[in-house]
Amino acid sequence: MTSYAYDTTNIFARILRGEIPCNKVLETAHSLAFHDIAPQAPVHVLVIPKGAYVNADHFARAASDAEIVDYTRAIGRVCEELGLCPDQGGLGYRMLSNGGEAGVQEVPHLHVHIAGGRVLGRMLAQLQ
Ligand code: AMP
Repeated sequence: MTSYAYDTTNIFARILRGEIPCNKVLETAHSLAFHDIAPQAPVHVLVIPKGAYVNADHFARAASDAEIVDYTRAIGRVCEELGLCPDQGGLGYRMLSNGGEAGVQEVPHLHVHIAGGRVLGRMLAQLQ
């Protein structure tokens, strides 16, 4: 069981409630994708589940199969609709999700970042 407490005042919860706008890319039954407000690449989109999940491990443990399938398919559709898929002539992308203190997660609602539009370089400096 999870011990996560979900903060209903976080910015993505407010977007989901329609209290603040977002630049929407895609919406499905259980997921929402929108452009990051401070893009770090030519393409930078966030995909979030509509359910109250703090991070990826919380989601994996507590979400229903329907939510997990919907979220995974939504990520795929975003990549496709943004023209990022390598098998469809796209340059590719990076997908990552920050969790907790080590991941320096700022918004405590699960989100994956999908970044692309240029070669992004290595994710972390190579270890010596
Ligand atoms: P993280 O550090 O993984 O929690 O990333 C949070 C991301 O949310 C950052 O890339 C922010 O630029 C982005 N962000 C914060 N507020 C908004 C907003 N209102 N609309 C879109 N993206 C946002």
